[in-house]
Amino acid sequence: MASPQGIERLRVKYGELFDPDAPATDHWIEIDPAKPPSIPSLAAKIAAELDGSGAAAVEVRVAGTALGAGTRATLDALDGTAAGESTPVGSGDRASLAGESTQFRALRYVCRTPGCGGEAFRSFHDPRFVPACGQTGHQAMELRGWI
Ligand SMILES: [Zn+2]
Repeated sequence: MASPQGIERLRVKYGELFDPDAPATDHWIEIDPAKPPSIPSLAAKIAAELDGSGAAAVEVRVAGTALGAGTRATLDALDGTAAGESTPVGSGDRASLAGESTQFRALRYVCRTPGCGGEAFRSFHDPRFVPACGQTGHQAMELRGWI
């Protein structure tokens, strides 16, 4: 049984996989809160379910509670980065030059608990899925701009 905090932590962890504009769907994937999949692994499961079912969106649930829904658009946006690869998107087909993209900036979040200094980085900001500090009892992090 996943606690509300555990569910919120998973929602933050997988936030970049979810599409806030996802249409309602009756297709879903259940994940095990005791053994949550890696982001690339969950992305692959969502992709397989989207391809196999022809659904427009696939909901991700933990213990029956919806975390969010992935769509082809969110997976495409992550393509090449979710797998944790350092290879730039398009390098396989020589679509872009090697090196860091100049089109994106990392958003920096900082823990608000005094003296903590915890940081997290995201590629986009969704106020519903701000990163949480990993320290017990600390609150959601605060957006401090981009780097
Ligand atoms: Zn903290």
